[in-house]
Amino acid sequence: MDLTRQKVCVIGAGIGGLTAALALRQRGAQVCVLEQAEAITEVGAGLQISPNGGAVLRALGLQAEVAQRAVKAQAVELRDYAAGTMVSHLDLSLLKDQAPYLFLHRADLIDCLAAAVRASGVRVLLLQKVDSIVPAGEGHARPRVVMANGSEMKADLVIGADGLHSRLRPALNGTVAPFFTRQVAWRATVPNTIDHPNVARVHMGPRRHVVSYPLRAGALINIVAVQEQVGWAEEGWHIPDDPDNLRAVFADFGGTVKPMLAEVKEVRRWGLFRHPVAPVWQGGHCALLGDAAHPTLPFMAQGAVMAMEDAWVLVDALSKAETVAAGLASYQGRREARVKRVVDTASKNAWKYHLSNPLLRRAAHMGLRMASSVAPARMMGQFDWIYRHDVTQG
Ligand SMILES: Cc1cc2nc3c(=O)[nH]c(=O)nc-3n(C[C@H](O)[C@H](O)[C@H](O)COP(=O)(O)OP(=O)(O)OC[C@H]3O[C@@H](n4cnc5c(N)ncnc54)[C@H](O)[C@@H]3O)c2cc1C
Repeated sequence: MDLTRQKVCVIGAGIGGLTAALALRQRGAQVCVLEQAEAITEVGAGLQISPNGGAVLRALGLQAEVAQRAVKAQAVELRDYAAGTMVSHLDLSLLKDQAPYLFLHRADLIDCLAAAVRASGVRVLLLQKVDSIVPAGEGHARPRVVMANGSEMKADLVIGADGLHSRLRPALNGTVAPFFTRQVAWRATVPNTIDHPNVARVHMGPRRHVVSYPLRAGALINIVAVQEQVGWAEEGWHIPDDPDNLRAVFADFGGTVKPMLAEVKEVRRWGLFRHPVAPVWQGGHCALLGDAAHPTLPFMAQGAVMAMEDAWVLVDALSKAETVAAGLASYQGRREARVKRVVDTASKNAWKYHLSNPLLRRAAHMGLRMASSVAPARMMGQFDWIYRHDVTQG
């Protein structure tokens, strides 16, 4: 399909929406992005962009610019919480021939995407809160976007890249309440006073873990800390907490965790919820992507990367189809099974880090230690289906 005649409205200027807008514009579509915020900004937190996300950035022509702002990751290390001793080392250099595995400040990725989107001629409209979307149907051939101020907009195609609280998702699927996983998470960035190497460290303790990795040429460390079996917590991840609460929960963590947590001045805490993957991603010339279709727990670090993969495949599927409807159906068909597998894998991952029975933990750590020293390529190979998947290769 020739996309140059298509007027596309993308709701949301997050990672998924901006990637979709750029990919569409590069195929000639007329694109408008509606963002509720007054500026395209991001919270101070890190992201891991694995090679499958890097492949999309490369195809969009952004790889060099993003790499300049990123830290190239060397390894993922699993460590025991008490003394910080190594349990397993996943050597990321084994992913040779792939785009590099990167640690990136979210704001830096958003900056690169937003600059490219604006330079390409996409119209980005800020302070535009969408209230609802009416998919195309009987009596109206094009979908309608209804703004919170009551005004309306029509497009040939509407993309809902509006995150966790999507307005398009209920229009296509109805509403299903998520369930609280009985886990809460804190996130913070701190100055790198411990000379953190260019690795992602997962410090595994009973019912808790802490992930740390460097950002911005090693000047900062990104910290995500997770605790199980606590009371109710809200889902939004902008809720401030007292850093002393975080330090108290992880007070028995040794190694580098203590000095890192000592540096925390500001921290956000939120509840981790599981949302089912939306059964319907498209219809009536509308499509969902990223968190709007399939929010995931953060335990595989794949949420943003999946949003980028979605965006690429959506545009590729449209450009190869005869009609919008056929392109959208092909998009969901190409994405659904992979995304479900990633979301399931992330959901099952937390308990592996959180073993609380000391005997079980010792045995599991011993097994991991052995596997990682005897068969490092095999350890890494278990993630090939995620990291070596390149959506830009068809
Ligand atoms: C602690 C944590 C760590 C993570 N780490 C990683 C990681 O290492 N790697 C990774 O790949 N992923 C990671 N993720 C997941 C990742 O952040 C998300 O999956 C990703 O940001 C989703 O992108 P999105 O574009 O779909 O949605 P969002 O980033 O949520 O963007 C949605 C946009 O839509 C706008 N919007 C919403 N509603 C409206 C409306 N009604 N009208 C107009 N605009 C609207 C919002 O303002 C926002 O700009 C992590 C998540 C968390 C919580």
